[in-house]
This record gives sequence, structure tokens and C-alpha cells, in this order.
Amino acid sequence: MSRFPDARFLVSAAAPAQFPADVGVEVAFAGRSNSGKSSAINAVTQRRGLARVSKTPGRTRLLNFFELAPAKRLVDLPGYGYARTPAAERRDWTPLIEALRARASLVGLFLIVDCRRGLTAGDHGLVEWLSPAQRLHVLLSKADKLGRSQAARVLGATQAHLGGRATVQLFSALDGTGVREAQEILAAWLGDKKTPAV
Ligand code: GDP
Repeated sequence: MSRFPDARFLVSAAAPAQFPADVGVEVAFAGRSNSGKSSAINAVTQRRGLARVSKTPGRTRLLNFFELAPAKRLVDLPGYGYARTPAAERRDWTPLIEALRARASLVGLFLIVDCRRGLTAGDHGLVEWLSPAQRLHVLLSKADKLGRSQAARVLGATQAHLGGRATVQLFSALDGTGVREAQEILAAWLGDKKTPAV
């Protein structure tokens, strides 16, 4: 059963004024286009069509907010890294993500990185974009595409590269590798202690 049975789409924001109220907690998901971000969102939330919204034409360049539980949100950032993306469009989302970073409710970022490609310039840009107090967790996606030892090597190299700044794990939406681990981290960041808050 889904950890977030009541997850729902909230809003596609083209401007900070359209963001939901800055209360509660939220976690952003970002990654290069085709990194497997939508598949990761669907696997981690166990809500198959959730990220489909973000693939809807016209919404791919927007910040898509989902409510996973009351006052607990997931923010899906536009995929980046396509050389084809017009410069004007790329400039467009700078004020959006700057406003996102400034939100008190943003506790951290899940960065989706294709394990065969490793960290790209766009990924590094996002790592630098995060405030030091905001946490970073890297999903090395499509881990099913690598053999065990190769996957372990990529994991070790990425961990070493990011040092203490991030936690890193192997992940596959296809065969389920690391899905539970990612769910635990997301739930912990969102403050889900499985006991009623007092
Ligand atoms: P997004 O563009 O980053 O949202 O990526 P998608 O989730 O749409 O996935 C991009 C492509 O990668 C699609 O063809 C998916 O089927 C494929 N993909 C996503 N996750 C996995 C995975 O865990 N394993 C494999 N082998 N392919 C995957």
C-alpha cells in the first residue's frame, strides 16, 4: 500500500506567486531530462500516475507541486540538460527556483542521476543552488542497467565526489532496487515518524 494514499496534484507554478503557502515541509525532486525522475517519483510515492502531470505538455517547464499528506509536499522541478531547450526558457526558471530555495518549508532535494552518466554540469549547478541547511540525497537511477561491481564503483565514486554534502544510493524503478530506502529517507525528511505528533 502507498505510504501516501492521499497524494494529490496541487498546482503547476509558472511564478512564485502561484506557489502554495510556505507552511509545513516540502522536498524537491530534480534531474536531467530522461534521468528517470518521473519513474522515481511514481515508485517512491507508489502512486503511478502522479508524475504524469509533470509530463503534460505545457507543464514540463513549470514547478509542479504535489501534496503527499497534509502540509507535506513534493515539488517536481523541470528536467534540464537538453541542449535544445531555448535559452529564454532556461532563463525563465531561474527566478522560480531561486524563490523555491528561499522557502522555509524546503528541507531538501532528491537529485536523480542516471548511474551510467554520473553527475553532469546541470546536477552540479543544483547542488550549488541548495542552501547549506537543505539536505541532498542522490538516487543513482536505472541501476538495473549496470552489473553489481560496476554499480558499486559508481556509488563509491559519487559518494566520494560529494563528500559529506549528500547521501547517495543505487535506485531502480524497474526492478525495485533501493525504492524502500528512498521511501524511508523521504518519509523521515517529511517528518513522518509513524506516531501521531503531539
Ligand atoms: P524523466 O524524463 O527524468 O522524468 O524520466 P522518465 O521517468 O520518464 O524515464 C526516462 C526513460 O528512462 C524512460 O524510457 C524510462 O522507461 C526509463 N527508465 C526510468 N527508470 C528506469 C529504471 O529504473 N530502469 C531502466 N532500465 N529504465 C528506466
